[in-house]
Amino acid sequence: MKFGTYVYEPEKAEGFDFHVLRVKLETGARIPPVQGMYSNIAVFADNAATRSHPDWISQSPLGPARMGNSNFNIYWDVVCATQPEHRAEQLDYIEDVDRHSLGVWLNSQYFADHSHCTCPRCNDLWKKSGLGWLEWRRKEVTGYIAQIRERVKKELVMCIQPDPVSSYERYGVDFDDLAKYADAFNVVMFSKSYATPWYWEMLARAFKKLLKKPVYISLYVYGPGDTVKDVPSAAELLTVSVRCARAGIDGILYLANGASQIRDFQKAAVDKVELRQRLQSYGGQPVQEVLDLVKNWEKIVE
Ligand SMILES: [Zn+2]
Repeated sequence: MKFGTYVYEPEKAEGFDFHVLRVKLETGARIPPVQGMYSNIAVFADNAATRSHPDWISQSPLGPARMGNSNFNIYWDVVCATQPEHRAEQLDYIEDVDRHSLGVWLNSQYFADHSHCTCPRCNDLWKKSGLGWLEWRRKEVTGYIAQIRERVKKELVMCIQPDPVSSYERYGVDFDDLAKYADAFNVVMFSKSYATPWYWEMLARAFKKLLKKPVYISLYVYGPGDTVKDVPSAAELLTVSVRCARAGIDGILYLANGASQIRDFQKAAVDKVELRQRLQSYGGQPVQEVLDLVKNWEKIVE
């Protein structure tokens, strides 16, 4: 297994195999990529783009993909996935970011959610395609990923929503299509509590069965603006890490604002001596790899 950090600030915490930097957020905010880190880019979720171009927002019978539309699981504005200017600008941007970092991890590279997008252009494209609605959406998503693959010379990782069953109907995402272009997948499993690890373990197992490329998962440690009360405990994070590891996944990323929050987590994890002992009996080699990682952190947090 491999272990990484997933951070908003370009500093590498010690004790991990790799680091993913959030260079373009769903807010549209961008920071420069860094040579020794991978770059994470939110493609269609982009508040800045919809602010400059209100007509670019993805449409549906339940309203637009706007922050605050509670019909959908959306926490930001999402651009229509066929918007040609946004697509072209993102292709150039992705190519440039790839050149200046270790590779690109994409998220929000698909439709906003189920029943998107019904803008006049999408309706037109769909009718001209002669395909069913869901198949047309899949073709649009896969076709754009193929274009991105031509631009990205280094590693290309597809971040996906933690929905193993309905991603095709909701986002136009076909896992086998994406696997043709992706070097790996990253299943985003962010939660401010991992109190019931059973569900996360089940999801990890489901994705490992479905996805035809290596599978990483991402866990939530400490986001921008959080306080200690907002975030999962080190005990929950250790337990859920071990339980997902034994489901056969290939790696775990830990999301935090920056390296200092990662170090706080490492220290708290190291201090869970009894729990680390108990977790020894939770599985075989993959569990041992998580516990060895924490053992290795002992030297770092002293
Ligand atoms: Zn549209």
